Amino acid sequence: MDFYNDLIRDTSALLQGTKSCAYPYTPGKAWPDAGRNEVILQRDTAFELNGVGFNLITSEPVESGIAVYGDELGSIRQSRHFARVCLIGMRDDAGDEQKTYDRIRKVEFVKYHCFPKGYMIRTASRSHKEVVRVSKSAVQGGISFEKVGNLLLSAYLEKPAVEGIKILFLTDPQLDYAKLEKIAAKTHAVTETLNHIMNSVNFDCSTCNLKPICDEVEGMRELHFKRAGM
Ligand code: SF4
Repeated sequence: MDFYNDLIRDTSALLQGTKSCAYPYTPGKAWPDAGRNEVILQRDTAFELNGVGFNLITSEPVESGIAVYGDELGSIRQSRHFARVCLIGMRDDAGDEQKTYDRIRKVEFVKYHCFPKGYMIRTASRSHKEVVRVSKSAVQGGISFEKVGNLLLSAYLEKPAVEGIKILFLTDPQLDYAKLEKIAAKTHAVTETLNHIMNSVNFDCSTCNLKPICDEVEGMRELHFKRAGM
């Protein structure tokens, strides 16, 4: 199920030429998990990161690690644009689309079960938007994307089908966030189309509002027809 490959290419092209800092996966450096959804009040907030968060899933091998394009959390002084992109290498059960789809769904839910302390993630299950509120005390305590990334990586790698994951944190003000928003929206649309294909009995392409995605992403339409036994 390599439906996200074009979007992986678009993301790589967008990041071409942007300086980055890479960190290997080091579980011992993981930032503490608060264990529950914390509320960080405005008065306790150092800054907000406002943007998108999305997963790009591939059956290609991915080396686990973290990459920061732009400033680290400790260098940010005021609210700014941001994006979190998780490139996830997942085992592909050739021919068993239901199994692979179930795994994609499970990975989508990891972000709701990981609560970095002093790093409040606000997101919605049917949206690619992501807003992060970082507390003053977390900044004073030395929070960094490297540490938050290691915590998130550990949570993702608990899923047996995830073989490798690279988390990209983007904060460079020079990046094209409008384009990133489009990539995130399209990633969301591909996932929604997969939801429809795996759960729906409507096979009438002429009336289907997901036709633009099926026209563009190779293998989508074939998958729906295969599911329908057509
Ligand atoms: S194959 Fe046709 S009916 Fe199925 S999701 Fe795509 S456009 Fe819709």
